[in-house]
Amino acid sequence: MIDHNTVQQILDTADIVDVVSDFVALKHRGANWIGLCPFHNDRRPSFYVSRAKGICKCFACGEGGSAVNFIMKHEQLSYPEALRYLARKYHIEIQEKELTDEEKQAQSEREAMLMLNEWACSYFEKQLHETQMGQDVGLTYFRERGFNDATIKEFRLGYSSEGYNDFYQAAIAQGFNPKLLFDVGLCIPDDRGGHDRFRGRVMFPIMNIAGKVIAFGGRTLRKDKEVAKYVNSPESIIYSKRDVIYGLYQAKREISKQDKCFIVEGYADVISMHQAGFKNVIASSGTALTEGHIHAIRRFTTNVTEMFDGDEAGVKAAIRGVDMLLKEGLNIKVLPLPPEDDPDTFVRAHSYVEVEDYIKENEADFIHFKSSVVLKDAQNDPIKRTAAITDVVKSIAIIPDEIARMVYAKECSNLFSMDEQAILRQIKHYRNKFIEQWRKERQQQQAREQRLAQGANPPSNSPAPDEMAPPPLPEDFQDDYSPQAGPAPIAPITTPPSHSSRATYDVTVQEREVIRLIINYGMCHLIDTEYQDGSVVPTTVLEFINNELEYDKMSFSDPLFKRVFEISKQQIKPFYADLQRFNDGLKERMEQFITQEMSENNDEVLDALDSAALINAQERKENEIKSKAALKEINERQEYRASYLQRVLCSIDDDQVRQLACDMATDNLPQLSKIHTQYTVIVEERDKLIDLVPVRLYNWKNALLELKINEIKNKIAKADPNELPQLMKALQEQYSVRHKLAAIIGDRVVNPK
Ligand SMILES: [Zn+2]
Repeated sequence: MIDHNTVQQILDTADIVDVVSDFVALKHRGANWIGLCPFHNDRRPSFYVSRAKGICKCFACGEGGSAVNFIMKHEQLSYPEALRYLARKYHIEIQEKELTDEEKQAQSEREAMLMLNEWACSYFEKQLHETQMGQDVGLTYFRERGFNDATIKEFRLGYSSEGYNDFYQAAIAQGFNPKLLFDVGLCIPDDRGGHDRFRGRVMFPIMNIAGKVIAFGGRTLRKDKEVAKYVNSPESIIYSKRDVIYGLYQAKREISKQDKCFIVEGYADVISMHQAGFKNVIASSGTALTEGHIHAIRRFTTNVTEMFDGDEAGVKAAIRGVDMLLKEGLNIKVLPLPPEDDPDTFVRAHSYVEVEDYIKENEADFIHFKSSVVLKDAQNDPIKRTAAITDVVKSIAIIPDEIARMVYAKECSNLFSMDEQAILRQIKHYRNKFIEQWRKERQQQQAREQRLAQGANPPSNSPAPDEMAPPPLPEDFQDDYSPQAGPAPIAPITTPPSHSSRATYDVTVQEREVIRLIINYGMCHLIDTEYQDGSVVPTTVLEFINNELEYDKMSFSDPLFKRVFEISKQQIKPFYADLQRFNDGLKERMEQFITQEMSENNDEVLDALDSAALINAQERKENEIKSKAALKEINERQEYRASYLQRVLCSIDDDQVRQLACDMATDNLPQLSKIHTQYTVIVEERDKLIDLVPVRLYNWKNALLELKINEIKNKIAKADPNELPQLMKALQEQYSVRHKLAAIIGDRVVNPK
């Protein structure tokens, strides 16, 4: 358990831009940051991050939320796990008691596996550095490969001793469950209990993008051929070969910075290149690249250069995997090395500058490279030649960008001495085929997702129809091969309400709207309430709504909304305490601001010619700065008030409340849609609360009234004649309330029908 103060400290410290940046390359745009969404296969930036609001949101797939939410979803962690992650990131110490056996058992399997791997990784590192065997065998090997201490440390290389079950014994002694050791693949069960999978090997931990150890690769140092050179962890719930790229954790920042990455084959290649100063290098670990790999890479760059051994086998392998990359719209280059080299040997034999020069001279466009290879293969055999051309044309047809396809067609016609139009026709033919195939795949996928969604979506959380319109997509989101390109916008599955439930439905819609106002603006100052004793008390949106509900004896009918409301009310006291602190700090900041502005503008003032002009200029400047400061102060205070509840609710330990708050908070991220920015003056909802809040409350009351009227009408339809007079009277009463209510709000009553 993490104590409340620590949780608060973590939430206060975590900066959403900083947190998201660890996984997504973000660019500044207006008041927000944007990048490629890590939750779907994003081609154009759809992922928005608002630092002011502390939230992020994808406008294509709808994922997002607070920093805690983001980490939960991205790293597949539970709420407390995500908090621990953030605590580690910001070096906030969490006092945790030693876990009992039961607690260890109770923790999620995933967390337990990661914990075990982390412990194992440190264990292997210790074995390498602190045991005689580790130093003599493991460290000597790494040194022979030219790895220095910093590199060994950065990649957390280790050593697993020769003993039959040394690791197994140590892990059991540490309190780890044997089943966990087997599940994660570090040990293999046998009739003596278990033994070590990686015994007598140097260890390469495989980390996910967040730096968590999810698997290991072990290389034997024995010379005999009966032993497999490399052994890898088996797949588990934390490790899927299809999605993991070796070295991405260490390389991601550099990849994003250079907007380019190199793909090599093995662990040693990555490490050697990294040490040689080429830090934007990753490895597919011997398997062909999958969509999962590409998805991971494309968060950081679309420019990929494949490096491979220049021998025939290397070239063939290089060509095979690339169509997948083309389809995803990546810009692919190839860099064949001299036939006797691999990246590891190559960078060790050459200086940084030599390698750089080699890259400059030999990096080639993939289509060109493939064309020359297949042509050379075909020689003058006409049948082979036709097959070769078809092969290249198919690769071109996969490329999503039309202009790129046309350029390649032109070059192809030169290379193959063929009519350009004929090649273009061929490309079109294959492209149509691919599109048909992808469309089918997409439809199947959508059908699957829809079935899942229908089974899982509780009706009470469904948004109102007027909120169902999908958010605006970035202008160039659509790509060319399908009208429904990109993932389907998340359209909540809402069955249109039947006539009889219409009134109930309206109530939910109105309640939802009131809750939305509370989440986004609950602590904003709404009005000054004057009490009978003459005192005037500033009242927040939340307090105003609460007063009204108490007066009318109303409450939320939806249990989730009710919970949000109750939690929000509990925040009133801490809010006022915090507001005091905030105001004190703000006052200080504004004084500093004025002093600084004045001193910066001194020169300007001193330029004045005579003393009268000097005083004038000084006064003018001072007034200018003071009004600027006053405006700034108002803005900051409003921003603070507006974000207070939303910050609390978006990070709270209640899955449903947190989800709802995040959805509603991200619903109105400002300045995101083009519609907003079309106007020169953006009137924010926050500035219209004084009109908005009462209207929404009355709308809700009105909907409740309609519900009651409806119920009475239904009763009348089925009633005994002797019950009728009473029911008619009740109906009349409700009508008169409706009349009064309508008089209060006049034509402001807008029913969202
Ligand atoms: Zn997305």
